[in-house]
Amino acid sequence: MEIKSVGVIGAGQMGNGIAHVLALAEYDVLLTDVSKDALDQAIETIEANMARQASRGKITDDEMQAALKRIQTTLNLPDIGKTDLVIEAATERETIKQAIFEDLQPHLQPHTILTSNTSSISITRLASRTDRPERFMGFHFMNPVPVMQLVELIRGIATDEATFKACKAVVDRLNKTAASAEDFPAFIVNRILMPMINEAVYTLYEGVGNVQSIDQSMKLGANHPMGPLELADFIGLDTCLAIMNVLHDGLADTKYRPCPLLTKYVEAGWLGRKTDRGFYDYRGEVPVPTR
Ligand code: NAD
Repeated sequence: MEIKSVGVIGAGQMGNGIAHVLALAEYDVLLTDVSKDALDQAIETIEANMARQASRGKITDDEMQAALKRIQTTLNLPDIGKTDLVIEAATERETIKQAIFEDLQPHLQPHTILTSNTSSISITRLASRTDRPERFMGFHFMNPVPVMQLVELIRGIATDEATFKACKAVVDRLNKTAASAEDFPAFIVNRILMPMINEAVYTLYEGVGNVQSIDQSMKLGANHPMGPLELADFIGLDTCLAIMNVLHDGLADTKYRPCPLLTKYVEAGWLGRKTDRGFYDYRGEVPVPTR
């Protein structure tokens, strides 16, 4: 089955990036969110990011204009039902995602494939509550979507081969690389990455280092392009905490317990770059460590 149109649910940092790369690969994109502001902001971000790519010669002005025309927005979730492939990229909370698929189901075409960009939630469980577990899978982009090469494709227990092949063909057309992962908590990338970030927060919490020395150590000492706390701010501390909770609950091992300091930042609403404050304060000219 050839996919021509894609519905993207959630127009946050991932949703806008997903719409961006799909439109450049000549898919018709319908983007939805519960918030009109999020939709407006997403279109602004996509325009700015494409303009930057055009100014660097990565895409032409014509490609940019054509891609922007391919992106439509709607506040009405049922509109998404007419697309061939749905990529859900709403807030990382299982109840939100379940409600989205439940509300969407009566409006879907029989052939539509459902996917979730979840970083950690069980694909099999999300799929089991829909009418099409065989046409449901994990479609996990990395942040920032236009830059990062990898997409993890996660089969639920019931996902059929035709669905996997159709999603793999989309990844190929995006000129990205697919890694196939089994459906266990947080899949591959976050199973390895998040405990490292959580450990960096423990290192801060226990006073072994401050924000600057921890990030500098991992950049200069382990050759990481970003420090773990800087990266946590970039991902979103609420998303990091949600993933640690999924690992902790799903694998029932205390080694995955979220650091209380990570919880405290999230309780404060200091969620990282998206709220202008996290382990760094981004409100000034240069980021300033908050501890
Ligand atoms: P975000 O907070 O930037 O955006 C989430 C968006 O979902 C918001 O605009 C919100 O208004 C919208 N939303 C909430 N409920 C909705 C509903 N019922 N219907 C439609 N829209 C709704 O979050 P994000 O970082 O873009 O993450 C989105 C998903 O992508 C999560 O599942 C997350 O785990 C996953 N993900 C995130 C990253 C990352 O680095 N941030 C990387 C890979 C995957």
